[in-house]
Amino acid sequence: MLEEVLEAFRGEAQRWGLRGVLGFAPFRGVYAALMPIQRRRLEELCDDAVGVMRSAISIAYAYPRDVVDAIPMRGYKESWNIYARAYHRLNRALNNTAERIAELVDGIAVPATLEGFTGRVEHVEDFYAATVSHRVAAELAGVGWRGKSGLIVNPRYASAIRLATIYTPLSLPSTGPSEGGCGECQACLKACPLLRAERLGEDYRELCRRYIIALERRGLEADVCGRCVRACVESFESGYMSRHLNPDWIRRPYYIDID
Ligand code: SF4
Ligand code: SF4
Repeated sequence: MLEEVLEAFRGEAQRWGLRGVLGFAPFRGVYAALMPIQRRRLEELCDDAVGVMRSAISIAYAYPRDVVDAIPMRGYKESWNIYARAYHRLNRALNNTAERIAELVDGIAVPATLEGFTGRVEHVEDFYAATVSHRVAAELAGVGWRGKSGLIVNPRYASAIRLATIYTPLSLPSTGPSEGGCGECQACLKACPLLRAERLGEDYRELCRRYIIALERRGLEADVCGRCVRACVESFESGYMSRHLNPDWIRRPYYIDID
C-alpha cells in the first residue's frame, strides 16, 4: 500500500505541477498531541471510526520560488496577490490530493484550511474547534519542525509549504518525528513585529488575523500575509540550515519532485 500511496501522490503532484513532501505518523501519537477541542473535532470527522485509525498521512505542497518572491517585505503591493492566488491553488491541490489518497487508504481527509474564515470569527481561538491541526501530524511524520513563526519548517522548502492530513486504519511505517530546529535563526522575528510581540506575551496569531483582515480591505485576495515565509526561505538560502540539520532525518519523508 505504501507504494500505491506514493504513486497517487506523485500523480497528483505532476498533475498540479507542484513539488511535494509526504510522511507517516502513528495515529495514537497525533491524537494524543492534539488540543482536546481538536481531538473532539477529529472524532466528529472520523465518526465512529476513530477507534480503528492507525496512521496519519501528512502531505505538503511547496510554493514555487517566484511566488515567494512576490511577497512584499514592506508596504502594500499588488504583487502580493500572486502569493494569495497561489495559496488558493495549493489549497485546491491539497484537498483534491487528500481526497484521492483517502479513497485509496479507506481513510478520512482533513482539508487544507477553512478559507475565508479569518474575517468571520471574533477571535483566532474560534478556529480551533472548527479544524484539526495539520502541524501536529506534520511534526510527528517528519515533514518539518515547529518554527519560531509557529509554521512548520521543512528542511528543503523552509516554511513555504501548505499542509493537509489523511487519517487511515492502515498501519504505515512512521517517517518521523521531525528532528530539526531553528537554532540561532531569527529571520522571521526580524521580519514581523507581531511575532516579536509574541515574545512579549501577546498572542501573535490573533494580531496576525487582524492584520490580514486589514490587508484584505486593501485588496489582498486571501487570508495570508507570508512575510515570515519569505524571510524563512531567504534564511535557508544563506546556507545556515544545511550546516546544522541531521541528514538522516531529512531523508526519512518522501519528496516528490516534478519534471
Ligand atoms: S503572516 Fe505576516 S503578520 Fe502573520 S506572523 Fe507572518 S509575517 Fe507576521
Ligand atoms: S525564519 Fe528562521 S527562526 Fe523563523 S521559522 Fe524559519 S528557520 Fe525558524
